[in-house]
Amino acid sequence: MKVAVFSSKAYDREFLTAANENIDAPLDLVFHEVQLNPDSCLLAQGCDAVCCFVNDQLDASVLQQLAGHGVKLVALRCAGFNQVDLVEAKKLGIKVARVAEYSPHAVAEHALGLILMLNRQLHRAYRRVHDNDYSLNGLLGFDLVNKTVGVIGTGKIGEAFSRIMQGIGCEVIAYDLQPNPALAAAGITYVSLEDLWHAPDIISLHCPLNVATHHLVNSVTIAQMKTGVMLINTSRGGLIDTKAVIAGLKSKKIGYLGLDVYEEESNLFFEDNSNVLLQDDIFARLMTFPNVVVTGHQAFFTREALTTIARITLDNLRFFDSGNLNKVIFVD
Ligand code: NAD
Repeated sequence: MKVAVFSSKAYDREFLTAANENIDAPLDLVFHEVQLNPDSCLLAQGCDAVCCFVNDQLDASVLQQLAGHGVKLVALRCAGFNQVDLVEAKKLGIKVARVAEYSPHAVAEHALGLILMLNRQLHRAYRRVHDNDYSLNGLLGFDLVNKTVGVIGTGKIGEAFSRIMQGIGCEVIAYDLQPNPALAAAGITYVSLEDLWHAPDIISLHCPLNVATHHLVNSVTIAQMKTGVMLINTSRGGLIDTKAVIAGLKSKKIGYLGLDVYEEESNLFFEDNSNVLLQDDIFARLMTFPNVVVTGHQAFFTREALTTIARITLDNLRFFDSGNLNKVIFVD
């Protein structure tokens, strides 16, 4: 089976190649650094499948081109699938597989990292000591114990995150369309979405991006939050209306913002743009706030997660190839 692997970095090649060497009949993996988009589609010619990541474009026009090139499977090496036009894929008979679970802990622990960094101003403290400045002004934090944390989406990552925060001594409240009984039994209180906005000192987003959740955090919902709230998004950028959040930061309604994802990240993240002029004025404004920390979609980036992603992605590809469709994790 010949597979065009798009958006592949050195670490993708390393982990996928190692996993491929471990299987009886290795796949023919053709690595491309470029993102999949209408211009790079041609690279999939003669391939049975494409292997894609979070910012590869899989809209109707790209899928139509892929079908024309003979592609029958899109194997996503990520959990989210908001970048795929599933209706068009179905129409074209292209199947879409994903890695539903690799390391929920990787993302949950990164969310905790953002919380600690923002609360104790570690990003500012780090710079200060390098400047021989050991003053503490402006670095005042708060104890996390007994604070209320609101979690939106308590699937695999939301569950891991909720348990971490509970372990620290926070009161965790949650909203999910399908509450998780194990978490409820562990003392996490499910509330309505309306109620979730009001109480928490920290709100962390762990639901998928779809039509219903697009701009879930907007001027109306921000108005309902506690003044000085800490907002954390390690899920998908489109969950947050960035302009509304900037207004919230300026008015001090939002006290801290930690982002691992950004709604226009596909033009920015995963690349070294240090020699490129930043053209995104909204992102540039965001970066001026001392109480904002942004990481470039790295929450998943642990050795354990990459090992599992590579293994499951190759399983999806080879089981599809051998007709063992019940073993492929299709996007449903
Ligand atoms: P999951 O499918 O296990 O859990 C998602 C949960 O969200 C489910 O319990 C679902 O019922 C709930 N949900 C769906 N719609 C909702 C809504 N409208 N309101 C509230 N809850 C809703 O997924 P997961 O593995 O926990 O991943 C969650 C998200 O994290 C993914 O969709 C992905 O976008 C993101 N993610 C980010 C990274 C990263 O590196 N930053 C890595 C992996 C996943």
